[in-house]
Amino acid sequence: MSYGEPDYDPIADAHRCEYCGKWCRALARHITRHHRITTREYKVKWGINLKEPLIGESVLAKLREAVRKSGMYKNLEAGRPYRFKEGQNTTQSYRRSEQTKKRLRVLRLMSRGKLRLKKRKSRDIIKKKI
Ligand SMILES: [Zn+2]
Repeated sequence: MSYGEPDYDPIADAHRCEYCGKWCRALARHITRHHRITTREYKVKWGINLKEPLIGESVLAKLREAVRKSGMYKNLEAGRPYRFKEGQNTTQSYRRSEQTKKRLRVLRLMSRGKLRLKKRKSRDIIKKKI
């Protein structure tokens, strides 16, 4: 292992675990599950550059494909207007989504006692079942 880089075998597309010597395609998952430490702690302990990936290219490609198929990446764009911006030091300037505003209105009314959630009585549930 050269300093700053994890032991990587490009042919097998696997990284070697510094704890147990096992070769893994998804070393990040291995160390969090089997050695119970975070990838950051692992990298700091073994002197690996924090920006070095601990996952093989084939696994990364599968993850990229899963994200692309599920459309999860669209959430990043949708959340952009509500993200914290550097230099923003007040909560007043924070823009909330309509969904969050609605939830906060309900919570405010409930805290003032103006709104109560309907309690379901057990006999109502029994009636529905019959
Ligand atoms: Zn290990």
